[in-house]
Amino acid sequence: MHPSDTGTKTLETHQPCIRCSYDLYGLPLSGSCPECGVAVERSLRGDLLQYADDNYRATLLRGVSLIMFGILAHLVLFILVMFAGIAGGAGIGFALSILSLAATATGLYGYFLYASPDPGQLSNNRGEKPRQILRVAIVVSAIAAIGQIALGGLALFMAPTPGQVGAAEGVMMLSAVAGLAGSVAWIVQFFAAMLYTKWLSPRIPSSRVLKRASLLMWLGPVLFLLFCTVVTPLIALIMYYNMFSWIRKALITIRDEGEYFDDPTKILN
Ligand SMILES: [Zn+2]
Repeated sequence: MHPSDTGTKTLETHQPCIRCSYDLYGLPLSGSCPECGVAVERSLRGDLLQYADDNYRATLLRGVSLIMFGILAHLVLFILVMFAGIAGGAGIGFALSILSLAATATGLYGYFLYASPDPGQLSNNRGEKPRQILRVAIVVSAIAAIGQIALGGLALFMAPTPGQVGAAEGVMMLSAVAGLAGSVAWIVQFFAAMLYTKWLSPRIPSSRVLKRASLLMWLGPVLFLLFCTVVTPLIALIMYYNMFSWIRKALITIRDEGEYFDDPTKILN
């Protein structure tokens, strides 16, 4: 096609704008989106993250950074809880549980951002299902965590009154149900996060992220179920953390250098 032809050619397929998802059908290829002003040509470059909208990539980067911060915070708190257990201070234990809740909230917000919808990926979006499941699981986890702590606190508050022992037990039971719901949501969240990451990996593109997400799908639960030691869940956590650190590195490289690929010899998908 001669370069001057692009001025008269119009888009004959239904293609969403990468920033605002406006249907660009019928617009000149040399034109720009009437809703947000992004060049039509930019929305036609395919699935790679380097061609995705800057705001979308920035949101993913923030999400991944918060997930990593949440994991590190939980590790530090875990070590502190062990020392506090030796020292034996009830006040320290309470302070640590509040900090643990803050770390959980930070991590959940990170997953929520990581599962942000890409406005330019509305058509043929195979990642949509795990992404939606991930977001629902995050919301259920958050509600369950808040519910468990609120109900647990309420039960403690009610227990000293002799006439309300039955009511306190009922509240305690609800708290346990909230805890169970939280655990189920956490398991669903883990598998949805791995499926979503598998979908995202060819867009980075990164074969090591794809391999790690596929491996953790089965190895993660196996290592976590071996609860007889602290070592195996720790190995799973480090492998999990590494995967996010690779995604973070790729997103920073794309932001700073405009492109990224970690293994050009491997053909993805
Ligand atoms: Zn637009």
